[in-house]
Amino acid sequence: MAENYARGDMLGQGTFAVVYKGQDKRTGKVVALKEIFADEKSTDGKKGLDPTALREIKLLRELRHPNIIRLEDAYPKKKSVVLVLEFMHSDLEAIIRDQNLVLAAADVKSYMRQLLAALDTCHRRWVLHRDIKPNNCLIAPDGSLKLADFGLSRLYGSPDGRLTHQVFAQWYRAPELFFGARQYTAAVDVWAAGCIFGELLLRRPLFDGMCDIDVLSKVFGLLGTPGVEGNWPAAKDLPYFLQFTENKPVPLRQVFPAASGDALDLLGRMIQLDPLRRISSTDALRHPYFTNNPPPTPPALLPRTA
Ligand code: ADP
Repeated sequence: MAENYARGDMLGQGTFAVVYKGQDKRTGKVVALKEIFADEKSTDGKKGLDPTALREIKLLRELRHPNIIRLEDAYPKKKSVVLVLEFMHSDLEAIIRDQNLVLAAADVKSYMRQLLAALDTCHRRWVLHRDIKPNNCLIAPDGSLKLADFGLSRLYGSPDGRLTHQVFAQWYRAPELFFGARQYTAAVDVWAAGCIFGELLLRRPLFDGMCDIDVLSKVFGLLGTPGVEGNWPAAKDLPYFLQFTENKPVPLRQVFPAASGDALDLLGRMIQLDPLRRISSTDALRHPYFTNNPPPTPPALLPRTA
């Protein structure tokens, strides 16, 4: 209920929401109040909030995991909705960009284990995220990573509409989606998590580009064009398949000279072009990378932004 929360200063504005600091008047707890813009098209193409969205939000309130931001409450406001979330201090984008921070191999492993644990929990319940990017990986006051907005991407309107305004999300978009695959699968989230893995190792985005073609050229520049070495046989059957000038894959070792062999093996499995061959979040967590040395840094000891 709206009257249970006091709205404070604005924390930030995203493409589809304004986020305010807030306080639960009953407990004094500091929260983040995320007000989704009411004028965005919802999933049924009409203005305002799709009635099924509220039902879904209720289900998402049941998702509890240390690496998923808690949706504590939600209430309607005019034609839209306000999400009451755990209050977070920073995000992974700020950490990656902070030139003063050194990210050790054990730190990267810790972020990846936390991100994959969040994905695994949701994928086991058939909940997809569909908009994983570093600034959706929030950092809690205790240093742990918490994935934000799980299952809520549908609230923000159709994926195509979203991509016209939200250029950055393209960098984490799986190749099958560029070619018009009709169904989002869990493999889409694993691809995005793989892009974040690469970005943590490189300290810059793995597949940044100004437009779809640009991003895809970078993807195929590294992984080879579809069809080369039988890497993705079903690509040519996708509705918007485009033939790119053929090139062979570049060994990951060339791009990541300092990374360990086990890290590159896992990364390679997460950014498989063919979604059917892409590793699942469950199997990724079982990869030897996570049990080999060095052990992942405990969240409380991870580097912090100033
Ligand atoms: P985007 O569209 O970039 O994903 P959001 O709409 O999710 O952004 O959030 C906008 C800004 O609000 C973020 O950049 C962040 O600074 C802030 N923010 C979002 N969620 C939280 C939270 N749970 N706690 C603190 N700040 C938050």
